[in-house]
Order: sequence, then structure tokens, then C-alpha cells
Amino acid sequence: MDCLFCKIIKKEIPAEIIFEDKDVIAFNDINPIAPVHVLVIPKKHIASVVGAAQEDTLLMGKLIMTAKKIADDLKISEKGYKLLIRVGKGGGQEVEHIHLHLLGGAKLSENNL
Ligand code: AMP
Ligand code: ZN
Repeated sequence: MDCLFCKIIKKEIPAEIIFEDKDVIAFNDINPIAPVHVLVIPKKHIASVVGAAQEDTLLMGKLIMTAKKIADDLKISEKGYKLLIRVGKGGGQEVEHIHLHLLGGAKLSENNL
């Protein structure tokens, strides 16, 4: 399968990985729009929220809890941050492998999504 993020998971493409366990991996966005811009993705290939099944419920929750841990580690929790999942073309999703954006480290407006 020709999926960019699956290639990052398999270490076929380099990325600045900041967290990894058996289920998820997190790495810095290559084109950050905030001082902290991390992508948290499941290791299982799921194209988008539309393609997530009931059996993926725990994994979807783990994306948020992983972002929470990273935000704590990066000491941005007190000031606050944004979690963003784009869904499909209409939602602006460009990479068809579910990813949660963790955005923080500055005051974020609704214009710099
Ligand atoms: P989205 O528009 O929600 O699908 O977000 C895709 C994100 O993936 C964008 O913020 C890109 O900057 C990011 N991205 C694309 N290629 C890479 C890569 N090779 N490594 C890290 N982030 C990437
Ligand atoms: Zn994939």
C-alpha cells in the first residue's frame, strides 16, 4: 500500500519521532503551523474517521491520550493547546491515514487551523 504515514511507521521515510509504542507513533509535522505541531497516528492503517470501525474505539481514544501525554511532557498543557482531526477531502484531509494534530506553544486562533 502506498501510504506515506505507513512508510514513516515502517521507518522507510525519516521523521522526527517523539513517541512510539505498540499501537501509536507520534512525530513532528514537516510543515509546522505552531511552535508545537505533532501528528499522532495509529500504527494500524485506517484511512480516516469515516473508515474507523467499532473495534477501533480504544485505539481512537489512545490517540487523544497520547497527545495529552506529549503535551504534558512538552509543558504546554497549562496554557492550552488544540487537537485537530481533518476528515476527508471536504475536511481538508491530505494524508489518507488518520492523524491527530497536536497544536500548541502559542495562542492559537481559529484562522490558523
Ligand atoms: P492533513 O491536512 O490533516 O491531512 O495533514 C497532513 C499533515 O501531514 C500536514 O500538516 C503535513 O504538513 C504533514 N506531513 C506531510 N508529509 C509529512 C512528512 N513526511 N512528515 C511529517 N509530516 C508530514
Ligand atoms: Zn497508512
